[in-house]
Amino acid sequence: MMVATMTGGEVDLSRETIDDLIACLQGPVLCPGDVGYDESRTVWNAMIDRRPALVARALGVADVIACVSFAREHDLLLCIKGGGHNIAGLATADDALMIDMSLMRGVWVDKARNLARAQAGCLLGDVDRETQVHGLAAVLGFVSLTGIAGLTMGGGFGYLTRRWGWTSDTVLGMDVITAEGKLVRASADKNPDLFWGLRGGGGNFGIVTAIDYTLYPVGPEIVGGIVAWPASEAPAVLDLYRSLAEAAPPELTLVAFIRPAPPAPWLPKEMHGESIVALLACHSGDPEEGERLVEPIKSFGSPIGDVLVRRPYAQMQALLDATQPKGRRYYWKSEYLPGVEPELCEAFARHASQIPSPHSAAILFQIDGALSKEDEDHSPVGNRDARYVLNISSAWESSEDDDANIGWAREAWGDMKRFSTGGTYINFLTEDEGPDRIEAALGGSMRRLAEVKRKWDPENVFRTNRNIEPA
Ligand SMILES: Cc1cc2nc3c(=O)[nH]c(=O)nc-3n(C[C@H](O)[C@H](O)[C@H](O)COP(=O)(O)OP(=O)(O)OC[C@H]3O[C@@H](n4cnc5c(N)ncnc54)[C@H](O)[C@@H]3O)c2cc1C
Repeated sequence: MMVATMTGGEVDLSRETIDDLIACLQGPVLCPGDVGYDESRTVWNAMIDRRPALVARALGVADVIACVSFAREHDLLLCIKGGGHNIAGLATADDALMIDMSLMRGVWVDKARNLARAQAGCLLGDVDRETQVHGLAAVLGFVSLTGIAGLTMGGGFGYLTRRWGWTSDTVLGMDVITAEGKLVRASADKNPDLFWGLRGGGGNFGIVTAIDYTLYPVGPEIVGGIVAWPASEAPAVLDLYRSLAEAAPPELTLVAFIRPAPPAPWLPKEMHGESIVALLACHSGDPEEGERLVEPIKSFGSPIGDVLVRRPYAQMQALLDATQPKGRRYYWKSEYLPGVEPELCEAFARHASQIPSPHSAAILFQIDGALSKEDEDHSPVGNRDARYVLNISSAWESSEDDDANIGWAREAWGDMKRFSTGGTYINFLTEDEGPDRIEAALGGSMRRLAEVKRKWDPENVFRTNRNIEPA
């Protein structure tokens, strides 16, 4: 079997050699044509269609070590798949040896110490499910099917970010398999340089096998959900968004979006496919206070749908899942914003009115609060001046529509990037975004990241990521 090498060539692995790998793993090794191979090799974004030569489905730390050692011995290109949700498809590579972490999804909660240890193949929903048993939550993202590993190592933001910072700010430690195939701990006390790099520098320095998160008291009941109006109301609704968001306590996170109405049961049938403007709110504190704070949203104008209610926090975390299924074609453009001034809102609504697909959306996420309390160099995520995230989110079904949908996102971004802080989110970068965009995301951390890379992965074994060359 021909397998890609780290240096861009190919090596022919004999059946016996592949059997050696199979023999040292507890989890299965899949080749093209095997049952489960396609499920493992495919990622969330159908624009990415790559075929690794071998997929090793690790069952534990020892399997990951065996894969790294095997790859080193035979000079194989390695790729690592967490939740497979990276829009640029960084989890997969043609002809590589893929380590698929998706069988490693254990979560252990230490209630007395307010921490959870999660295996690196977990999806966000796995962590929420276990932590909510104790009325606790980790700071994670908005879609429960996203992988914790990619999200955390790129920064991570969600409904709790305004209270407790980037997801990576709340990490206590990680277990990591290094390029030498050794298990090490990365934390504030153990290998602090590695710990720093992993909280924003992606999978550049090793394969994370477990992440320890700080937990916070949240739920189980919170106030959250969506209120929608016809898009003709966008100017007034976006004004409301700005004034409420600017005054909101950290417990309340507000998101505004404009998109064609999905065929959801809470929206009137005659509106399906029509453009709507909506506010998504999550108040993670006392529900009574939450109800008081979201009242101006619920009573504003004449909404066509309102599902902003008391609900379980874990349900809130999965509220958007159905809008983001695996297997559609996706293309995003994103920027961090210092505010949502009227001029920006006007441009936002104008571009959203041109959306060419029923699945696309223009979105404003509010993130300001705790993240700005740390120093810029606390971790490579940086961007601690960001107050909102603009996400121009294109989604469609057929390759024939690629040009129209990519074109819409690029045009909207081309106009709206003038409102940016100058920074962007590493985890939202698409395949075609290169070094200048990585620089915009990681800012002043690039040099220090290259030094950490030189120490922990001088031969660049871990290169199927937003790659940082060793200094
Ligand atoms: C629908 C959707 C919703 C999203 N919502 C949010 C959100 O609310 N907040 C937010 O911050 N982000 C969000 N994101 C972005 C998300 O953080 C990134 O896509 C992230 O890369 C996903 O992680 P993953 O493990 O699923 O990715 P994968 O595609 O599996 O991996 C991404 C990168 O991480 C590396 N990697 C994965 N696992 C490991 C490991 N164990 N060790 C070392 N390297 C590893 C991979 O090699 C790859 O380079 C969302 C993405 C999608 C598609």
